Amino acid sequence: MVNQESKGLLVVYTGNGKGKTTAALGMVVRAVGYDWRVCIIQFVKGSWKYGELKGIKRLAPNVELHTVGEGFVGIVDDKKEFNQHQAAAKEGIEMARKIISGGEFPLVILDELSVALKLGLICDEDVVSLLDACPKSNHLVVTGRDAPSWLIERADLVTEMTEVKHPFQAGILAQKGIDW
Ligand code: ATP
Ligand code: MG
Repeated sequence: MVNQESKGLLVVYTGNGKGKTTAALGMVVRAVGYDWRVCIIQFVKGSWKYGELKGIKRLAPNVELHTVGEGFVGIVDDKKEFNQHQAAAKEGIEMARKIISGGEFPLVILDELSVALKLGLICDEDVVSLLDACPKSNHLVVTGRDAPSWLIERADLVTEMTEVKHPFQAGILAQKGIDW
């Protein structure tokens, strides 16, 4: 049966192919078209690039972006303690909780939350309690590779980006305006 009432959706963009954050950005643009306020919380610092950061500024005051990540975890130049990364990710969850309970943002984007979960920076319970506390009318978008199966189960809309071809495979580096 078709229900015409508006319902907050839990949207998950996952998979190895390019386009997860891009898809979330597309929803941001659409929401701004209705003059909605949108909050983006970035769980892995650096996951949003110069181009979109500048673009989002042009969408102010409707759109705000908060970076809570402490940079890349466990790779070459990562000198931070794991617990610093965990504290930053927890801060992101708390920020999301406040933003959502404030009721001013019909659309909230939790960028790379699935990655924060996969890395063990936050635990399933942190996210479950956040989702449980989310009002029925609020839309939530979670991006990142390796979304856990329970999140996929719980979501209303899940799209898995599949890498069919990526210029990187042909030795073509990230392009301005396309990747950053
Ligand atoms: P985008 O931000 O372009 O939508 P994404 O959110 O799907 O990408 P992430 O896992 O967040 O992908 O990866 C971040 C960066 O890695 C982006 O700059 C993106 O261009 C690049 N990237 C994404 N998918 C691939 C891939 N399959 N091969 C190589 N690079 C990729
Ligand atoms: Mg991304």
